Amino acid sequence: MAPTKKGILERLNAGEVVIGDGGFVFALEKRGYVKAGPWTPEAAVTHPEAVRQLHREFLRAGANVMQTFTFYASDDKLENRGQTLKYTGQQINEGACDLAREVANEGDALVAGGVCQTPSYLSCKSETEVKAIFKKQLDVFIKKNVDFMIAEYFEHVEEAEWAVQVLKTSGKPVAACLCIGPEGDMHGVSPGECAVRLVKAGAQIVGVNCHFDPMTCVQAVKLMKEGVEKAGLKAHYMVQPLAFHTPDCNCQGFIDLPEFPFALEPRILTRWDMHKYAREAYKVGIRFIGGCCGFEPYHIRAVAEELASERGFLPGASEKHGMWGAGLEMHTKPWVRARARRDYWENILPSSGRPKCPSLSTPEGWGLTKGHAELMQHKEATSTQEMKHVLELQKKGILERLDAGEIVIGDGGFVFALEKRGYVKAGPWTPEAAAEYPEAVRQLHREFLRAGANVMQTFTFYASDDKLENRGNQLTFTGAQINEAACDLARQVANEGDALVAGGVSQTPSYLSCKSETEVKAIFKKQLDVFIKKNVDFLIAEYFEHVEEAVWAVEMLKQTGKPVAATLCIGPEGDMHGVSPGECAVRLVRAGAQIVGVNCHFDPLTCVKAVKLMKEGVERAGLKAHYMVQPLAFHTPDCNCQGFIDLQEFPFGLEPRILTRWDMHKYAREAYNAGIRFIGGCCGFEPYHIRAVAEELAPERGFLPAASEKHGNWGAGLEMHTKPWVRARARRDYWENLKPASGRPLCPSMSSPDGWGVTRGHAELMQQKEATSKDQLKQLFDRRREIKDSALLWRLFAATRSLPYRK
Ligand SMILES: [Zn+2]
Ligand SMILES: [Zn+2]
Repeated sequence: MAPTKKGILERLNAGEVVIGDGGFVFALEKRGYVKAGPWTPEAAVTHPEAVRQLHREFLRAGANVMQTFTFYASDDKLENRGQTLKYTGQQINEGACDLAREVANEGDALVAGGVCQTPSYLSCKSETEVKAIFKKQLDVFIKKNVDFMIAEYFEHVEEAEWAVQVLKTSGKPVAACLCIGPEGDMHGVSPGECAVRLVKAGAQIVGVNCHFDPMTCVQAVKLMKEGVEKAGLKAHYMVQPLAFHTPDCNCQGFIDLPEFPFALEPRILTRWDMHKYAREAYKVGIRFIGGCCGFEPYHIRAVAEELASERGFLPGASEKHGMWGAGLEMHTKPWVRARARRDYWENILPSSGRPKCPSLSTPEGWGLTKGHAELMQHKEATSTQEMKHVLELQKKGILERLDAGEIVIGDGGFVFALEKRGYVKAGPWTPEAAAEYPEAVRQLHREFLRAGANVMQTFTFYASDDKLENRGNQLTFTGAQINEAACDLARQVANEGDALVAGGVSQTPSYLSCKSETEVKAIFKKQLDVFIKKNVDFLIAEYFEHVEEAVWAVEMLKQTGKPVAATLCIGPEGDMHGVSPGECAVRLVRAGAQIVGVNCHFDPLTCVKAVKLMKEGVERAGLKAHYMVQPLAFHTPDCNCQGFIDLQEFPFGLEPRILTRWDMHKYAREAYNAGIRFIGGCCGFEPYHIRAVAEELAPERGFLPAASEKHGNWGAGLEMHTKPWVRARARRDYWENLKPASGRPLCPSMSSPDGWGVTRGHAELMQQKEATSKDQLKQLFDRRREIKDSALLWRLFAATRSLPYRK
């Protein structure tokens, strides 16, 4: 019977309408024969009666094409992620061909052998390897003598071209469909350009299938047609869309919808939507009109009914369906009988019956494509670790949170906090504790998380190789070891709550010592490589005194594609070269930072003021950014532009300057009012400071942090205190108006900064691997003119410096 039938090209050349079938994996999943996830078609062998039956239903609904149920029947897909099947790829492909042929011969239908995208391509296998995969299926199609070939469901036109090139070798007609919308393929190739490439590869029929609703797919095919015609080429056009409404999808289509794949029901098209679709497709010149996932036989019947006058006949299944619901004339209830008319169904806006459901949702949009680690396919089952990792990815990203206007609370400065706990040495301030004392670092992360932080910054401050080796610092761990350990710790704790991991880089000795841009960037690159390997959520370039170096850092961090935040340790006076905060911010945004601000060096209100100036600068330049602030927890009203480093109390006498929790309330409110939404801390911040920030912003965030179970708001816990006068302090106005004394009668309230005013390139700022020599130290002491007896100081210092250190 088959040889006497008109072939696919004959039909299309004659201007006939060819109706396709619907998507088998979705229909058979609902019927219990396909597993959602692998979506493989082993049912062609395990349950041939189910597959045969579905073919029959589509034939009866009016389909002219029986696509072999060989979707994802490539060997690499059948074995993907731990799936073990009792049948070989060849058995499944052969079984599928036999079933399609059997049913096609029962009516006026052709058999199309189908191939689709492969795990091998996503996993970056070579063209030769991917083509060999297609070839194995093609060998079966040739043996079983299918009528034509369809390469369908390709997200990347490049792979579809390879498929077409392989299918063409059979000498049979080739159709090619991408699962793309009007935005183009996953590499951004436009539909027009995709179509041209497919036609040039040898496809006689081009179009799209799956991933988008009918109107969106028709729109995409229209663009393909325009492209092909503009290129002076010729083709036939096909469309096999979803039977789900997807107006809220991005370029990845329905896979990104939160409802995919088990809650798509409210989106299913009605048969009346299908009438519209069929008409629209026909109008734009598409003549091969079918369906993909979600299509049930009644959807195809609706397409056939809409195009009945063009085709000259109704499908067999229409015997059980009056046109436009005419069968309802025989219904029991009169109000239902009143619905037996076209204008009723054509104008109905069907409700979902779900009072708490929105009409549109927000696609997840992970934005992954070929080559991304999470897209790599493998034979082994998904491990628990991989699953955990995928769940991590599902957390809202930093930009999603900020774009949505959420408050993101940062953590505090680790070097100062861990120095006090005995794990960091003041001076080098390097973070070897990440590898050396992981439990201490982990615990501090946990405390900040419990205090309300949404960001776990990797403890990688000064973890650049040049800094780790600076001035005689000798560590038993490599830079890579320290950076990796820091990432693991941050990730472990971030996963215990709603926190993201931010990989952090900071200014380098190399820059201060006037090394070249290339050399400084190479330093950042080494840390960055670890952050990528450990897949941090976003990146922070922080603690830069010179905007020039920060721009270099941002340029490097941007290359990862992850969101980038950048903070300078500057005040309202600007950076060490005198560049104003506004100008600094503009440069950082232009370099690619999405979040800009300041950290360290100044007290909270000074930092907020500096960020305000940044914001003004950015807005004046017509740019956009999010803003962050991570100040000191020390009061610094007496600082010059170098910040607290110049204070005579730095770093071992800063205690009287520590902010109270009530100061933190003021800070959090001030930062929020200034439009800053990423609000954290730096040196001096202890977990209770972050908790105070979280408590102040609890009304805006809608919740209190876990640590607040141990803290009554505005000191309310004091109500339970033993002493009555302390109980009397359990109120906001007491703490808000208190001016805390230092208890140091001989101490001034302000000091005068040292202010040597040296910056990049000054001899005293040159960094070195060797330990500071005695001569160098003596010179420094001599330079401190305000200390009268530097010789005495030097003797004291030299005497204690050589004492042994007891573990
Ligand atoms: Zn589909
Ligand atoms: Zn700091």
